[in-house]
Amino acid sequence: MNNFIFKKVKSEDSKKIYICGINVHTTKYTPTSKKYYLFGIQYKNKKQKTNLMAMLNERLAKVEQFCINSTYNRTKTQPYIRQIAIMVAEHCNLNCYGCSHCSPLAEPEFLDINSYERDLERLALLAFQQGGGGLGIDIIQLQGGEPLLHPQFLDFIPVTRKYFPDSEITITTNGILLEQQPDIFWETLHKYNVEITPTIYPIKINWENIKKKADEKGVTIDLTFIAENIFQEIKTSWHWPYDLKGHQEPVYNFTKCMVGNSCVGLSNGRLYTCVLPMAIKHFNKYFGTNIKVLDSDSIDIYKAQSFQEILDFLAKPMAFCRYCKIDERRFDLPWSRSKKDIKEWT
Ligand code: SF4
Ligand code: SF4
Repeated sequence: MNNFIFKKVKSEDSKKIYICGINVHTTKYTPTSKKYYLFGIQYKNKKQKTNLMAMLNERLAKVEQFCINSTYNRTKTQPYIRQIAIMVAEHCNLNCYGCSHCSPLAEPEFLDINSYERDLERLALLAFQQGGGGLGIDIIQLQGGEPLLHPQFLDFIPVTRKYFPDSEITITTNGILLEQQPDIFWETLHKYNVEITPTIYPIKINWENIKKKADEKGVTIDLTFIAENIFQEIKTSWHWPYDLKGHQEPVYNFTKCMVGNSCVGLSNGRLYTCVLPMAIKHFNKYFGTNIKVLDSDSIDIYKAQSFQEILDFLAKPMAFCRYCKIDERRFDLPWSRSKKDIKEWT
């Protein structure tokens, strides 16, 4: 979310406030642009509108400033890994249209904690001892699929904190399983300083209760667009189409892409500049397609001689980027459930 600049685009003629955000790394904001991230937040009365506007204005000021500072050339080697995404579970308990992690197409599959620990140990060794400059990884996102489906989910938290004591650790969840979490869940998050960064879908979840529990247990939960008594978030569906023939221009795609060298993926001892090549196996299996993932699309962290070598690798397009139809991406479709139709991904 920090990659977006947000603008209020409509508030006068309906009981909703629309916030339009454009990715600062791909193109400039224009009110007519199709490439935006759209939220509609409903309010019930004048007081709620006033409160909502005050909250948004405060947040927007900060976000915009952060965006300006964070604009960077993704083909430039970064001093550290900005965000790393860990697929704790490949599958999901929600079924979103065009899910970019292909989770609606995935069979149940859980990350092995031992292999995860080995990978983190190796990354920490490279980051802190072998040319990493001690900066390591800024944000480690435990996600999926739905990470809370993992029966040993809590085991991932102390392991992550052990190797990356200063990184921000977050849980990206759709929230469906949050209300039923036992006290030990909240206590572990508090103990290891782990934040919940949920995505808010238009499904029935009692966020007020969850927030109350989180506050009670001293756990940070980022409900950016939810304030007391003021919310009905409308999450959009995104369309990130693939060119099944791989005829797109990888360098062009990578340079314009919002995730390459920004949200990298770790899987089975390999790092990818984005998570798409990690998830495509589910798409290929479900639709019988043959989008290829080459060894050269990722770097083997056990063969890399230094953290610097990894950072240099992540700043380059992958051959896999030839499958992305980046100019056809859309962020403004009304959220809907997947029908597992190949058109959602092509
Ligand atoms: S909640 Fe997230 S991971 Fe699950 S199907 Fe929806 S977009 Fe995919
Ligand atoms: S494959 Fe390349 S262009 Fe496509 S999302 Fe990943 S980094 Fe971006």
